[in-house]
Amino acid sequence: MSGIPGGFFIYHADGDEEIIYANNEVLYLYKCETMEQFRELTGNSFRGMVHPDDLDEVERSIEEQIMGSQRNLDYVEYRITCRDGEVRWVEDFGHFVKSDVYGGVFYVFISDVTAKMNDHTRRENDYLNDKRDQELLRTALQSTASSYREVYMVDLTNNYYRMIYPDNHNAAARGNYRELLKRRVSGSQRDGQDDIRLGLQPERLQAALMDQNVVEFRYIRNMPEGGEEWCAASVTVNERAEGVPVSAVIGVRSIEQLIRSEERQNAILRDALLQAQQANAAKNMFLANMSHDIRTPMNAIVGFSTLLENEAENPEKVRQYAQRITSSSRHLLGLINDVLDMSRIESGNMALSVDRMSMREFLKEISTIILPQAGKKGQHFEIKTHGRVPDWILGDQLRLEQVLINLLTNAVKYTPEGGHIELDVLDCGQRSPSYVHLRFIVTDDGIGMSEEFQKTIFDPFTREVSSLTNKVQGTGLGMAITRNLVNLMSGTISVKSKKDEGSTFTVDLEFALPTQTEEPRPDTTVEDTERVLVGKRILAAEDNELNAEILGEVLKLEGVNYDIAQDGAKAVELFLNSPPGWYDMILLDIQMPRMNGYDAAVAIRASGRPDAGTVPIAAMTANAFTEDVQRAINSGMNEHISKPIDIAALHETFKRLMIGRK
Ligand code: ADP
Repeated sequence: MSGIPGGFFIYHADGDEEIIYANNEVLYLYKCETMEQFRELTGNSFRGMVHPDDLDEVERSIEEQIMGSQRNLDYVEYRITCRDGEVRWVEDFGHFVKSDVYGGVFYVFISDVTAKMNDHTRRENDYLNDKRDQELLRTALQSTASSYREVYMVDLTNNYYRMIYPDNHNAAARGNYRELLKRRVSGSQRDGQDDIRLGLQPERLQAALMDQNVVEFRYIRNMPEGGEEWCAASVTVNERAEGVPVSAVIGVRSIEQLIRSEERQNAILRDALLQAQQANAAKNMFLANMSHDIRTPMNAIVGFSTLLENEAENPEKVRQYAQRITSSSRHLLGLINDVLDMSRIESGNMALSVDRMSMREFLKEISTIILPQAGKKGQHFEIKTHGRVPDWILGDQLRLEQVLINLLTNAVKYTPEGGHIELDVLDCGQRSPSYVHLRFIVTDDGIGMSEEFQKTIFDPFTREVSSLTNKVQGTGLGMAITRNLVNLMSGTISVKSKKDEGSTFTVDLEFALPTQTEEPRPDTTVEDTERVLVGKRILAAEDNELNAEILGEVLKLEGVNYDIAQDGAKAVELFLNSPPGWYDMILLDIQMPRMNGYDAAVAIRASGRPDAGTVPIAAMTANAFTEDVQRAINSGMNEHISKPIDIAALHETFKRLMIGRK
């Protein structure tokens, strides 16, 4: 046996694995010169022959192979420690034999494979150690990682992390993963921060990654250099054990820009939503207010009308009830006009019609309207002008009047009996020779308003609730309309007030001045006798029976002869069948069956009769907007009278259009 090439030895399979025999090659392998030395080095046991680090693995492997093999053979590789301390690699072919004398023994052929093993490990090491490869690996990692601020590898089962990008070697580059979360995921109570810190816990990540490979989180993180930042963490499974993710790579990138643009977008959406909600709330409030405000005067009208029927025999009561009906109707009409104005202004449909107007005449008219109201409450009312207020300006008289009347009516309404009300008109100078800046100040010494209420006074439907306002009728629309009208005229309005001391409203407006060449319109003065219309002939078209009846009564009172047609076509027919010059005037409703008022006017004007072009035609209609007036004029009509009819105004129109004819 000492002659066979390579090492050969025999040892007991059981007990201490005692070496029974080893040839010279074995001694040589272990760099021992004598068997004594070999026994000393190995303790005369197979266990002593194997490097302690490899022993367990070797024994386990041998046992496994012998059990699983028919021929009782095994093959293992392990390290040995030579007598001089050198570690070498050997390969071991074992054969298990059961003998009667020795029991179980192993016959083993052993040879040195250090050169082969070194070559193998060198090649493995070479691959990783090769500078170029490492460089490639680093740039590969960096190019993917550069879109990340940081990349971590996390051992999910052991709760351990290692930072793999950026390459750094400080203490924070590895450690306890939960600690990292505590440190870096901001505790700011924003957008469910708490949940995110929880969601990034290893066991939560494991659960989330069970059936997908990547999950992403957004959170605010604490920057190492201080401060916070929005970022996204994408967590990718790195390794699974029996399907359970055990390690993951977490890439953290900044999403500040993204969040900011999302926030901007959200802000826009929130704004739009808020506006829609506000519009909806305003609409609901509007309907609630309208319903209430319409029902209140309607209730009075319906109630007093019923009472009127029952009290027909009592002239005193009849007059009293009729007055109440009239005043409630006026209020209702005012409300409807306000609401229409409001909606027209808000939808941008209110147009100004700028014309020459005389300041002196204008202020006289204001005085005529306000004096009686103030007089009823024993109040003192005065208009004062200061500086060189020009007489002629270019403005929308109707709208300016609406502004001042609204302010002055309120002053009267919200000032107790015997109070003082004043309108001051100031010339604030000319910006250029063609413009003048006028300031209108309405002052009262009435109930005034709280600071708080003054902030919302110009909002629709706002009223300061006090014992007085409760008793005073109002819709809370007047000031909103006033402000809007002032805006429309490119002016400003402001209020100063103190509770129980009074209020001052200031309106600043600029007006163009008419050029010298523009002739003032001559005032047409008409002889005003009561029954100047007696004997005149009027043709009217009105499809609504009630309205026709009212019109008939009014015309009867005027002493006028009239024919009423039920529609436009009938009116045209009556006109064509009458002798020329028969009718002194034509009144046309607009919305009628068969032929509307506009078409009827056009047909009459185009009829070719001698009086076709001259007979005065007026529209009498509930279509009361500026466009409607314009359309009436365009159809060849002379005037536009809006319903409900103001009988005094109708009388004026009749006189204007018919006196001097026939
Ligand atoms: P209304 O008079 O129909 O209630 P307005 O819009 O004209 O509606 O006015 C809104 C509210 O402003 C009033 O209800 C009142 O509370 C307050 N107000 C307006 N003018 C005066 C004033 N001159 N003095 C005291 N309070 C006023």
